[in-house]
Amino acid sequence: MPTIQAPYFAFRDFPAGINQAIEEALLRALRGQQYILGEEVSAFEIEFAAYVQSGRAVGVGNGYDALVVALKAAGIGTGDEVIVPANTFIATVNAVVQVGAIPVLAEPDCYNYNLTAAEAAAHVTPRTKAIIPVHLYGQACEMSGFLELASQHNLTIIEDFAQAQGASHKGRPVGSFGRISATSFYPTKNLGALGDGGAVVTSDRAMADFARMYRHYGQQQKYHNEIIGINSRLDTLQAAALRVKLPHLDALNNERQRLAQVYQTRLQGIGDLMLPVTAPECTHVYHIFNIRTKQRDALQLYLIEQGIQTAIHYPVPVHLQEAYAYLGYRKGSFPVAEELAETSLSLPLFPGMTAAEQEAVIYCVHTFFERHG
Ligand SMILES: *Cc1c(COP(=O)(O)O)cnc(C)c1O
Repeated sequence: MPTIQAPYFAFRDFPAGINQAIEEALLRALRGQQYILGEEVSAFEIEFAAYVQSGRAVGVGNGYDALVVALKAAGIGTGDEVIVPANTFIATVNAVVQVGAIPVLAEPDCYNYNLTAAEAAAHVTPRTKAIIPVHLYGQACEMSGFLELASQHNLTIIEDFAQAQGASHKGRPVGSFGRISATSFYPTKNLGALGDGGAVVTSDRAMADFARMYRHYGQQQKYHNEIIGINSRLDTLQAAALRVKLPHLDALNNERQRLAQVYQTRLQGIGDLMLPVTAPECTHVYHIFNIRTKQRDALQLYLIEQGIQTAIHYPVPVHLQEAYAYLGYRKGSFPVAEELAETSLSLPLFPGMTAAEQEAVIYCVHTFFERHG
């Protein structure tokens, strides 16, 4: 039995020195006394837009708000249908409902677990206004097909790239495909802040202007309200921390990919274990390292007993959530999404994870299948 334990996630000083740089940036922002918007936020917006190869970025309070702002900017509202994958984090779907639109769920691909254009196409109706591809677990969706489908039916593509900052399709970064796209800087995301944060990115000037006003009570000039907006601004201290992390995002993602490769090599051909599959011309930045087995619950229990923490993304697919009973779906509506919910397990993977920790995970997965295989 290994004596090393492995947390599912931990904040480590990776790359070395980043923690001190963040502390210094926070102190600088603190002493700057500009606590709402200001230079740190504007500078981060410019730097993040450049990274995503998108014209503009607008920082907001969290990833959920980013989705709402994106939908609003795209003019999505009452009665409009928006196609979303059945296997996503609930925020994607809640945002659609928040703007008064109707979420239309679709099955993920059974190999890479992302929504595909072919599957989305089957759900297009005259009321369809938008599609939200979610780059699930950190893997880029095959975006070319979505762009074609959108131009055929005059639809808006809004990417949810909360889990995939830095991933790309055909060499182009996720976030840059949608007319407007949304992301989250929740602390455990690949580009994580020290609290809540999010952003929309777009190359459409009018949409960016709308988003900038909408997040700030609908005003461009103080106390002059052009539209009815909300209050959802990226916090200034969070922006300061994100500015330190952004230049390291590729290094952080490379480390995630290295750790993923170790799992891929060492966990191959064990029992009924299924490892992540990456679609052609897509990259995967492993926000989550998902494995699948029919013995998921037993494996998770065994790993906990050995001191290995895991997670399940996600145990209940959207259409079987109590909150979404009103949509009228039932068990069997989305067999792929349902099977994913029953068999998926997320292994520990985070920048700074030690070789000993990863060895412990690999060792324990092997011993489980030796006993239960
Ligand atoms: C994290 C996440 C969000 C929401 O982000 P918050 O900042 O927590 O609101 C939205 N979509 C996906 C796919 C996510 O993983």
